[in-house]
Amino acid sequence: MKKEGEKKMGMKSDVQLIKDGKRIDGRNFDELRPLKIEAGVLHRADGSCYLEWGGNKVIAAVYGPRECFPRHEQDPLKARLTYRYNMAPFSVEDRKRPGPDRRSIEISKVSRQALERVVFLEYFPRTSIDVFVEILQADAGTRIAGITAASVALADAGIPMRGLVAGCAAGKVDDTVVLDLGKEEDNYGQADMPVAMLAGTDEVVLMQMDGDFSKEEFDQAFELIRKGIKQVYEEQKRALKEKYEKGIEGDINDQ
Ligand code: UDP
Repeated sequence: MKKEGEKKMGMKSDVQLIKDGKRIDGRNFDELRPLKIEAGVLHRADGSCYLEWGGNKVIAAVYGPRECFPRHEQDPLKARLTYRYNMAPFSVEDRKRPGPDRRSIEISKVSRQALERVVFLEYFPRTSIDVFVEILQADAGTRIAGITAASVALADAGIPMRGLVAGCAAGKVDDTVVLDLGKEEDNYGQADMPVAMLAGTDEVVLMQMDGDFSKEEFDQAFELIRKGIKQVYEEQKRALKEKYEKGIEGDINDQ
């Protein structure tokens, strides 16, 4: 979301975002910000995940399948999936007014629809699977950070899925297509395209766009995103493996 006085995506800004072939934070055009994922961080949730991606800090918690309330929302054929994306008031530079707003309602909706494509909801009729995503610190790309964390939390909860959902964005800054926009690039760039896919396949489950690309730029951006998503998927799998290896060691030590 743009603050007053900031330029709108799609217009070229006066801020120089690329210098000597490097981006403003020193990254190459095809380089992700540092990403670290940890699974199973909350003991009271059925599944959870903590994720740091650049300056973003995100917690995801999954509850369910559990009884669905209100009852009239029960579906006799499948589970209901809910997704709440929430930004903490202290997560951004200017305090964010607590509670849902148009942006968070939209992000929750597109993220839920993306996950509905991969979760086997028909295995759990009449129940609810509830996903909560809390943005503790925001630094551009939070919807993608959120859905990436949510997918790990769902796996951690043992919810059957066709696979993990992994996301990544690409954008355009100073007329150059780059991977994974940072905060300045998001504020002063020309385009931003967040994408989430069923990892390991070519299936897109979320795609949005702010600003615009030519056909060639779109193809270039999508190719970068594909490569970015591969790296995100590897980190998701590493985090889940680590959790289960730790769990097994823990069980042995408990005996
Ligand atoms: N942002 C903010 N205040 C808000 C909403 C967003 O400062 O109320 C910042 C935040 O850093 C966020 C960035 O603007 O990550 C880009 O927001 P956008 O709506 O493009 O979504 P995102 O890139 O986080 O998915």
